[in-house]
Amino acid sequence: MTRTPNNNAQRFDTLLVANRGEIACRVMRTARAMGLRTVAVYSDADANARHVREADEAVRLGPAAARESYLNVEAVIEAARRTGAGAIHPGYGFLSENGPFVEALDAAGITFVGPPASAIAAMGDKSAAKARMHDAGVPLVPGYHGEGQDDALLRDEAERIGYPVLLKASAGGGGKGMRVVESSEAFQAALDGCRRESQAAFGDQRMLIEKYLTQPRHVEVQVFCDTHGDGVYLFERDCSVQRRHQKVLEEAPAPGMTAELRRQMGEAAVRAAKEIGYVGAGTVEFLLDVDGSFYFMEMNTRLQVEHPVTEMITGQDLVEWQLRVAMGEELPLAQDELTITGHSFEARLYAEDPEQDFLPATGTLSRFAMDLAGAGLDPKRVRLDSGVATGDVVSMHYDPMLAKLIVHADDRPQALATLNRALAALDVQGVVTNRAFLQRLATHPAFRNADLDTRFIERNEATLFAERRVDLEEYAGAALIGLHQLARECESDSPWDRHDGFRLNAAHTIRIALCDPTHVPNEDDAEAVVVVEGRREAEGSPWQLTLGGRTFAATLAPLEGDAVAITLDGHRRRMQARLVGEGRERNVVVMVDPQRETRLFWRRIDAIDHGHHEAESTLTAPMHGTVVALLVEAGARVEKGMPLMVMEAMKMEHTLTAPADGHVESFHFAAGDTVGQGDVLLEFAADE
Ligand code: ADP
Repeated sequence: MTRTPNNNAQRFDTLLVANRGEIACRVMRTARAMGLRTVAVYSDADANARHVREADEAVRLGPAAARESYLNVEAVIEAARRTGAGAIHPGYGFLSENGPFVEALDAAGITFVGPPASAIAAMGDKSAAKARMHDAGVPLVPGYHGEGQDDALLRDEAERIGYPVLLKASAGGGGKGMRVVESSEAFQAALDGCRRESQAAFGDQRMLIEKYLTQPRHVEVQVFCDTHGDGVYLFERDCSVQRRHQKVLEEAPAPGMTAELRRQMGEAAVRAAKEIGYVGAGTVEFLLDVDGSFYFMEMNTRLQVEHPVTEMITGQDLVEWQLRVAMGEELPLAQDELTITGHSFEARLYAEDPEQDFLPATGTLSRFAMDLAGAGLDPKRVRLDSGVATGDVVSMHYDPMLAKLIVHADDRPQALATLNRALAALDVQGVVTNRAFLQRLATHPAFRNADLDTRFIERNEATLFAERRVDLEEYAGAALIGLHQLARECESDSPWDRHDGFRLNAAHTIRIALCDPTHVPNEDDAEAVVVVEGRREAEGSPWQLTLGGRTFAATLAPLEGDAVAITLDGHRRRMQARLVGEGRERNVVVMVDPQRETRLFWRRIDAIDHGHHEAESTLTAPMHGTVVALLVEAGARVEKGMPLMVMEAMKMEHTLTAPADGHVESFHFAAGDTVGQGDVLLEFAADE
């Protein structure tokens, strides 16, 4: 294949970064070090964001929605014109792999820090890329990546490949629009769901199918090409630790690589890049099977989130390489000048709740800090790439990644020890994050032994999540928060008080059922539901809370804002406490302390019996989002576990399923509606 030289490479002194968050901050840091002027762009949600504060200049793009701001090609180009920026760095996500954007920049005479549009097009579509790589002799996972997209054809292909198969959106990325299908019965539903997700995220419904490898590792190779026809590989990264097919912990080099395998994979990656006339930083992703065979998965035609681990082990600044290549310079080093020193890890800090199936979280960061010196960490070997600071708001508009923690040491065990110390030194408050989960990952014996594959989290679920079980004191605390709220409502003589003719009189026992908010409380379901009995001698005296065979003397003292102090038998804990959800008897208690967030669905179960009360249930929204589809008709009979409704939050689908055999009485929302966390989505009546 003849190379398509990037004619647009030219020197520039002002760089616009068409992105936000940690990557915008990180790119600008290198640009500044190279003496360039930096320009940030922002949406209304980010007017005061960290990347804006750190830039020399910043230009507003539009409203919060990415489509109207960070994805708005005209607005980005206009911002470059206004500020005289000669080049645009796209970061990752947003416009980083958008061919038409690169063409528009070419036409405007602005340098794109990245590959030519033709190379993006060649890899942008997973199906087309696979066909191309096949021709270039790069090994592929067995599968189907043809044009035909009929349901029947796709199903036949799946049968031919043999279950389990993986459905992937051809236009996909970021783990979206991807589903494992275990059997032909499950195929149609998975196909529909995948198409819907792909349409929503990428405006395209085409699918490809791959054999689903059950124990592969994700090993990817960093490549770099210049405009003079040279290409090198900067070794590999192991990104096997993933949730929802998205990376959580990455490391370089990949444990257990032989020099020979490293060379083979590196050379295959450079071959793939050269095949499409690549320029700049790119990543060729492979699945590495247990027997040592490796298969091309896709090429990411941009800088990756996890590039810092490669920087750590090679001692190179990849953004500097990118900017030099974009200026038309030759690659800073040749293949035989590149070496690996030590070992590096990266942990991604997400605003999400691992205990709630990694649902994204939002809120205000009341504190975001890391005390390196206090933890005895060497700033040269610990790096916190972040796009946020104390006081910043984490909204639902963008990706929930807050920051990346990157460490380097002489070998893997030492690097892991450093990672653990650094994670412990990270102080994040106000927003639920996966920090504690990352610590459990990084201290897990299987991870220490580098017993890695892409299902690591699933395989080790029992041990990774075990500590997160709600303990007796947390149940007691949640019950107390609920009781406190009831008492307040009664004291204010609320309508509820009149409704059931009940006062929270002294010496009256109140029963509260607590459970995980994704379940529906049912008194008979002893495992999922904890019943707490509360009683006090007089108004203002401590509550006696009985649960799990123990009785606690409990008091609650409101502090500033949402903060409360809960004391159980002389053990005082300070936390943020909130009640969400609607309805008098159904609520979610949210308790947040520096370590974790606990959510419990609580319901008072000593209220007036409304007849069919025990069998009646509702399902609430686990977080703020949009209703995508109602999967059954109101009135329809369903079996336990059947999907009822699909919600979407931050572009991830979340399916609500029937908690029991029964029927849906009514839906409170229609497709397209926005729902708030804790909103009751539907009325469900379980069978007697
Ligand atoms: P995306 O572009 O959305 O990130 P990828 O195609 O890169 O999607 O795949 C993401 C992850 O999904 C991989 O890292 C791997 O864990 C898993 N995966 C992809 N293809 C397969 C497959 N054929 N078998 C098993 N796992 C796979």
